[in-house]
Amino acid sequence: MGQLQSEAPRREKSGQGATITSYAPATGEALGDVPVMGATEVATAFRRARDAQKNWALLPLEERVEHVRTLRDAIVDEADAIVDLIVAECGKPRAEALTHEVMASVDLATYYANHASRILAPREIKLHLLKHRRSYVHYAPRGVVGIISPWNFPMAIPFGDVVASLVAGNAVVLKPSEITPLIALKLKEVYEAAGLPEDLFQVVTGDGGTGAALIDAGPDAVVFTGSVAAGRKVAAACGQRLIPCVIEAGGKAAAIICEDADIERASRGIVFGAFANSGQVCISVERVYAHDAIYEALVARVRELTHEIRQGDPTRYDVDMGAVTFARQIEVAEGLIADALEKGARLEAGGKRREGAGQFFEPTVLSDCTQDMAVMRDETFGPVVPIMKVADIEEAIELTNDTNLGLMNYVFTTDRGEGRRIAERLRSGTVMVNDVLSAYAAAETPFGGVKDSGFGRVHGEEGLLSKCEVRHVNYDRVAIGSREPLWYPYGEKSYKAALKGMRLLFRRGNPIRKVLDLF
Ligand code: NAD
Repeated sequence: MGQLQSEAPRREKSGQGATITSYAPATGEALGDVPVMGATEVATAFRRARDAQKNWALLPLEERVEHVRTLRDAIVDEADAIVDLIVAECGKPRAEALTHEVMASVDLATYYANHASRILAPREIKLHLLKHRRSYVHYAPRGVVGIISPWNFPMAIPFGDVVASLVAGNAVVLKPSEITPLIALKLKEVYEAAGLPEDLFQVVTGDGGTGAALIDAGPDAVVFTGSVAAGRKVAAACGQRLIPCVIEAGGKAAAIICEDADIERASRGIVFGAFANSGQVCISVERVYAHDAIYEALVARVRELTHEIRQGDPTRYDVDMGAVTFARQIEVAEGLIADALEKGARLEAGGKRREGAGQFFEPTVLSDCTQDMAVMRDETFGPVVPIMKVADIEEAIELTNDTNLGLMNYVFTTDRGEGRRIAERLRSGTVMVNDVLSAYAAAETPFGGVKDSGFGRVHGEEGLLSKCEVRHVNYDRVAIGSREPLWYPYGEKSYKAALKGMRLLFRRGNPIRKVLDLF
């Protein structure tokens, strides 16, 4: 049996010349070694990226967009080879590697290619007071964007930000996870083969130390995706240097199942939402609050559907669930399951590692869960779904919000209006009604968290604008004289005129105010 990812990343040496070996979680086979890059290599990558960015930023937007279309097409052409590598390095099924990673990425690239000229167009701002002047904002590239990414979606997560950064006129330095570094290197290979400008897209491999070196190298913006703990460190390091950053951290998505929900759809949604990518999705269904009236029926159907999942060799087309990418998540799942069972939960399905080679953990369903169980509160990031009975939806809303995390939540109800009303009361970056996971792939919508799940948004207009400096130009719209009433010299007369003007303009009920409020 080969190496498990719990022992990886295995540094072959420390210091200069150290390497990390990437292992296939489904077989334990070694897939390749990458260097652990230190401050010097990272600085070199930044220097190259910075030089390349100067010419890139001078290109008209349409030309940058054409390059991105070329990259997109090259990825489509190479899709099968990319899928093979994702399946090998992550252990996820082929279907997921294709649709959740490659297809989601090329769709995002297409969205930015098609909409960048509208989103990045200069925007006039109407001035309500200084009518003799005009204002507009325009969007300039920030420079070099540093992207630090996790192992669960090694393509889809960084690629959206790579494309948004390039379209906006930036260069990119990507630091992939030490658990799945080969996919980022494959993307770089496809980028180079497609003939895009040299050096504009850099990949630096290594662990957390390399990520820290990336921030030390002085990027003009950082997009971090990963754990809350590392997110805090990255935000602190960026804060120290006043580097704008987006922090995409963990989640604890709840699914609220209302009394009137379509039980079949809700059950299928829970099973897919909890076990896709072996539960290693930041927006996985990590807990379920089911109304008393439908609780038993829901648990029974979720149990049945879970037993139907075909788990095994992810290279096969007819496998629904593959391996756990990072074996640490198996240990986390085992700890949470043990705690829940000790506190009175019932094991409906799964609950243990699969015998034999590879890092496989059975899809696990727990019922009769209570909020004091760690599995209802801590991020699992593995194939475990705990279900809890609630007396009413008010209780479900309260318990859903009773967490430090706020990335995603779900509501299942046949009353769509009620679904939206519940959604608006849930504190998370996104809420989906009667569906799971797919909002991440809706390219035009903003994605990100509140509370400890982080701040800032990727995807959509926000994901493109955050890669830009917002620059405001204010200019005179009519010929003006050499004086301004509020400039020097000050005096009693000008003070009294300003006071009178303020009273006319800013007091409620004043006729001038009433007219101005119309605009
Ligand atoms: P992680 O925090 O261990 O690592 C993420 C990345 O940060 C890696 O590339 C790592 O090398 C780097 N890193 C670690 N310490 C660093 C430091 N001090 N400075 C700079 N870089 C550092 O997370 P992970 O285990 O790779 O990913 C799992 C976590 O990611 C889960 O909590 C999951 O919820 C979260 N996640 C969030 C989203 C989202 O969009 N919000 C998406 C996917 C995953």
